[in-house]
Amino acid sequence: MVMEEKTITPKIAPDELARIMGGRKGRILSSSVRKTVETWNEKIDDLIEPHVSYVKKPIRSVDRGGVHLGDDTYFKSPKIAKTLKDCSEVVCFIATIDHGVEEEVHGLMDENRLSDAYILDSMGSVAVENMVNQFHERMEKKYKKEGKSVTLRFSPGYCDWQISEQKKLFNLFDQEEVAVELRDDSCLMAPRKSVSGVFGVLPYDHGESIAFYNPCGECGNIHCIARRAENGINDNQDKSTH
Ligand code: SF4
Repeated sequence: MVMEEKTITPKIAPDELARIMGGRKGRILSSSVRKTVETWNEKIDDLIEPHVSYVKKPIRSVDRGGVHLGDDTYFKSPKIAKTLKDCSEVVCFIATIDHGVEEEVHGLMDENRLSDAYILDSMGSVAVENMVNQFHERMEKKYKKEGKSVTLRFSPGYCDWQISEQKKLFNLFDQEEVAVELRDDSCLMAPRKSVSGVFGVLPYDHGESIAFYNPCGECGNIHCIARRAENGINDNQDKSTH
């Protein structure tokens, strides 16, 4: 197994923060929230240790129910299978901003500073999501130079991919090297501000952005919080861990 690593500095865009906090597209942060965000913006760099680990795996075959990798791993998800059906390999990643933000949030809650805690927690969620988006885009650019392209990304626990499949994803990594632990009982990650997932690599350049095939376009699950718009951007009200 060859595990590779990247350090990517996350950005916290105000519109992403407004969406995660407000639940509606186009919402603007109130001036008091903006002030609190500015205060934490000056401190958050010291709380974040960004880290992305990833492995590339050849795809052996894809059937209607899921994706077989070159080893014994089978990711069970019809929607991932349909998205990755023409892919030659899959990139599996685990990204985190480490424990700093959540420890600070706990401290704020202990001091009953609930508003600060909520805002900082949301900033941490936006940061890790932004870091993964940057990673995905950088990999897309890298593959484009090789005449290849990438698919949308998927995370265990979203779409039709069960959270229990997280174990299969983590088994592809050297547990000693990766900066994130998996809680056996719940399959949740520690640090909490972490995102894991996969995306496929197509052996040709499809000439479009990442959203070449988007299963959301033909999905009737109207209440899905992970729904993505036509351009592949998450169109939900809470994109904290997707
Ligand atoms: S709306 Fe999209 S993310 Fe949600 S279940 Fe359907 S295909 Fe999956």
